[in-house]
Amino acid sequence: MNQEGAEHGEKKLPGLKWGGRRFFRGREGVIFPVDALSGFSYVLRSRCALRAQDFTAQVIPMRSKEIIVDPQLIIVAGREKSLLRRHPWIFSGAVATVKGRPVSGQTVDVLGQNGQWLARASFSPKSQIMGRVWTFDAEEAIAEEFFLRRILESAGRRQDFESASNALRLVHSESDGLPGLILDRYAGVLVFQLLTAGAEFWREAIVGALRSLFPDDAILERSDVDVRAKEGLAARVESVHGRIPEQIEIHENGVKYLVDVHGGHKTGFYLDQRDSRLAVARAAKGREVLNCFSYTGGFGLAALGGGAAHVTQLDASAPALAMAERNRDLNGFAAGSMDTTCGDAFQILRTWHKEGRTFDLIVLDPPKFVDSKASLNRAARGYKDINLCALRLLNPGGRLFTFSCSGLMEDSLFQKIVSDAALDAGRNGRIVRRLTQAGDHPVSLAFPEGAYLKGLEVLVD
Ligand code: SAH
Repeated sequence: MNQEGAEHGEKKLPGLKWGGRRFFRGREGVIFPVDALSGFSYVLRSRCALRAQDFTAQVIPMRSKEIIVDPQLIIVAGREKSLLRRHPWIFSGAVATVKGRPVSGQTVDVLGQNGQWLARASFSPKSQIMGRVWTFDAEEAIAEEFFLRRILESAGRRQDFESASNALRLVHSESDGLPGLILDRYAGVLVFQLLTAGAEFWREAIVGALRSLFPDDAILERSDVDVRAKEGLAARVESVHGRIPEQIEIHENGVKYLVDVHGGHKTGFYLDQRDSRLAVARAAKGREVLNCFSYTGGFGLAALGGGAAHVTQLDASAPALAMAERNRDLNGFAAGSMDTTCGDAFQILRTWHKEGRTFDLIVLDPPKFVDSKASLNRAARGYKDINLCALRLLNPGGRLFTFSCSGLMEDSLFQKIVSDAALDAGRNGRIVRRLTQAGDHPVSLAFPEGAYLKGLEVLVD
């Protein structure tokens, strides 16, 4: 092993310790852990190399292959099959050995029992998904340029969608070859989320890539998502660059929407429902519409854009409904064209049924009722109940647009639930269209888990 540190005249700083380890001081403030020389693959960056408390905790891979042996995950015999099919997840049960003491988020080489190189992945020691593949190409290094290249390619694949809207998802995590990174762009504001230890590890590189690819854009981090806890990461919301307005005005298929990127759901807006909003708009002309679980009014505003006679926006969140009203005014839709009702959809739909209230078109886009396999049964009952309530309110010849955004809910089960609900409601109907997430939320062929949003347009007798 070539001791590069010594060749470059780095000197040992005895007594300098961090995390129980001693370090060498390298060029330009780079600190090499002493044990790097015996095969460990990380270094610490420091603003000032002289005092232990000045070290930043970020660990970065060393570039010098002479010194560094990348840490490795050795896969249990037989469990390499999914990697050979280019599936990007490595479950902890598939890992026989972790070699080289990688830290959380660090890049590891993934090898079969026979030493066959399979992939290069990020290491998530706290998660059931212990590895997430960055690349299946042994020649591809994971460094700053990797993120620049992948983000550029991913954004480039969105050009077809730009005519529909100035708000698009530019990076959709695994399906765009960047596990754990979500990047949405609202007009000139980039909002990103880091969902995994690996994405967190490369935060600086990702921000650097965004700054060089979109020099005129403001940048906000919205890493306030529950899944981070599974990776041992705390939430973070931070304005990274530029001025970020409280609300951003976007347009989509001729309708304007205000987006609260600072505190809104997801990164501020349900971009994934773009195609379905258009489908609703096209079916809405002259109709009495109920948008149930409306949030800031997306489907209802699209319906008004499509010429709906009247829209009722129903949601449990008063601030979301207030935003829906601002959106109505922003578009110049008449005040009388839209009402809002705040409350629990399950109760309100029952009350309206008793009162004999009816609609021609109902959108049901509830929150994710399923977050684990264990909650699937309970969620199925929730979906069935709300669909039953909605079907009872539909006029003959009416249309139900019903959705589930739970990845764990299979298409076939969802269809069965809607069918059971119709049976109980004493209504018959036919599916005239299947709906799914918009194309800027693609599904990699190697990663079927990327498909999470499903919807049915049902024409009811
Ligand atoms: N359809 C929306 C997104 C819906 S998100 C869009 O396209 O923008 C789910 C919404 O359901 C949230 O706004 C939440 O406030 C609301 N919600 C959750 N539980 C509810 C309940 N029991 N009754 C009514 N609304 C509820």
